[in-house]
Amino acid sequence: NLGNEQNKRFINFKNKIELKNLDFKYPNNKQNGIFNINLTINKGDIVGVIGKSGSGKTTLLNNISNLLKFDSGEIIIDEFTILPEQNYLIKNLSYIRQDIYLLSDTIENNILFGQKKTEDSKYKIQEKLIQVGLNKYKDNLNMEIGHKGSKISGGENQLLGLARALYRKPNIIFLDEPTSNLDYQTQKRYLDMLKNLNITIMIIAHRIEALNICNKILLMSDGKIIDQGNLEYFKKKYSNFEKYIN
Ligand code: ADP
Repeated sequence: NLGNEQNKRFINFKNKIELKNLDFKYPNNKQNGIFNINLTINKGDIVGVIGKSGSGKTTLLNNISNLLKFDSGEIIIDEFTILPEQNYLIKNLSYIRQDIYLLSDTIENNILFGQKKTEDSKYKIQEKLIQVGLNKYKDNLNMEIGHKGSKISGGENQLLGLARALYRKPNIIFLDEPTSNLDYQTQKRYLDMLKNLNITIMIIAHRIEALNICNKILLMSDGKIIDQGNLEYFKKKYSNFEKYIN
């Protein structure tokens, strides 16, 4: 709705996101959504979200990032209180999905992804490629990656997506963890790198290893957060909580 677009609020996340009694139902599917979500994300948190497939993990992240519009409750981002009818954009949030949208274009253009080429963009792109472990492409920015990245590996697709996100200098990252694409070593490096960024991250975790970098874990079921705590807490409380990760 145009009126709402015009009133869109642009927010830079600094310290805190709070969700209060947040509800969302899919218009075509009234059973599903997220229900009575109360949650605080503090600067520097790495929040892992776990739960069976269909438990609402993606719906939760999509509501915080305003891709879906919650029906009731509020989201408070630093000093801004967002009500259901308000549109907003968290400008310094990067959202990395599993199915990264790659252009049939060069490495460089896939990282720029619409941003302008500048005097130092080449250098900055190289820096990000090195940071994510794609050193081998740093002197080959004009390489075409093919349709949906067909000329590079699945793992490299994911790393390229991460380089694109980091190029934007986010203060907060939402991430649907890549699963099958990364071998064990690459995955470990990916996770270590995320931890060392020292920024706020919310990660939908599909493997138990990802929880090692999280200081807070949310367990979701049927659209609700049914438990939260750190990894130690979960390990103690649930003898086989691995079954909630998929
Ligand atoms: P998860 O990320 O934990 O796998 P989702 O958030 O994708 O779960 O889905 C939560 C529930 O909402 C599921 O029951 C799913 O079928 C439903 N759902 C997801 N997307 C849509 C949609 N676009 N329209 C209707 N229902 C949806």
